[in-house]
Amino acid sequence: MTFCTIVNMLSEFDLIKKYFTRPTRSGSGVQLGVGDDCALIAPVADQSLAISTDMLVEGRHFLPDADPVSLGHKALAVNLSDLAAMGAKPLGFTLALALPDADEAWLDAFARGLFALADAEQIELIGGDTTRGPLNICITVLGTVSPHAALRRDGARAGDDIWVSGNLGDARLGLEILTNNLSLSDELMTIALQRLHQPSPRVALGQALRGIASAAIDVSDGLVGDLGHILQRSSVGATIEAACLPLGTALRSQGEQTQLEFALTGGDDYELCFCAAPVQKEKVMAAASKAGVTVTRIGKIEPMPGLNIVDAAGYKINLRSHPFDHFALS
Ligand code: ADP
Ligand code: MG
Repeated sequence: MTFCTIVNMLSEFDLIKKYFTRPTRSGSGVQLGVGDDCALIAPVADQSLAISTDMLVEGRHFLPDADPVSLGHKALAVNLSDLAAMGAKPLGFTLALALPDADEAWLDAFARGLFALADAEQIELIGGDTTRGPLNICITVLGTVSPHAALRRDGARAGDDIWVSGNLGDARLGLEILTNNLSLSDELMTIALQRLHQPSPRVALGQALRGIASAAIDVSDGLVGDLGHILQRSSVGATIEAACLPLGTALRSQGEQTQLEFALTGGDDYELCFCAAPVQKEKVMAAASKAGVTVTRIGKIEPMPGLNIVDAAGYKINLRSHPFDHFALS
């Protein structure tokens, strides 16, 4: 699409050239990147293309004064998290940007955050679109995965263990700091805000779990809701042992009720929740260790639909009286 200039100084094409055009890494599978009508990608034999889109909208997903380095990181991280949850290897991504103006300091910082993660995860920016408008960042990622090994949501079976990577709830606590002025020690505040602004997509873990996990999803909207998608697609139920939930480091400073609420229903963690048959336990641990991520068994898949959350004594915790109960399934 063509439009005149975003501002007098920097044209649309100057902007794309200056901030979003880089030489393509050899061996990446990208034959032609930014600058033509389409990017060209060499198909990989016996592999499917895994494709996913996630959009970040100002006011909805981030506050107007959000740090552009973090935004660049997070816009790509949330998309990489979807590739991770599918067990796919990152290949390339497109970037559709609506910008209120061509603020060069903002663009420079945004591009730094974006490319730092792109380089770390070896994914190439292959194209996009740039227009003037309210700040909106939309990324589409492409990855490769064998169709037989993809970690789908519909593969969970009764008796499978349920696992979660890393820890839960600190991103939700970070949001509380920003929106409700919750106060913590500087150290814990930094940890919680880091989890909210700079999530670590579990790309290596997703790939390491291929052939081991029966189903997987990334925890973007809260564990209960996201696990619910696996249960629904797999036509099964689950029991979660609340005492087993890996609580975020900052979240541990909070009362028991907040811990439970945020770990179960807080969003933006971008951990992987996955299922695996109990005989796969050793392989799950080995995959986690290879990926450099901790994993915790938090419950098991049940034959009957519905999600039960139980305390250490095995008593049911009733989420219906819970402020976040619109996420509960049963
Ligand atoms: P077209 O008019 O064919 O849609 P554009 O003028 O929008 O092409 O874009 C020119 C080239 O720059 C294309 O290769 C497009 O993929 C790329 N591009 C545009 N915006 C971005 C962006 N934000 N990041 C990366 N590449 C971009
Ligand atoms: Mg275009």
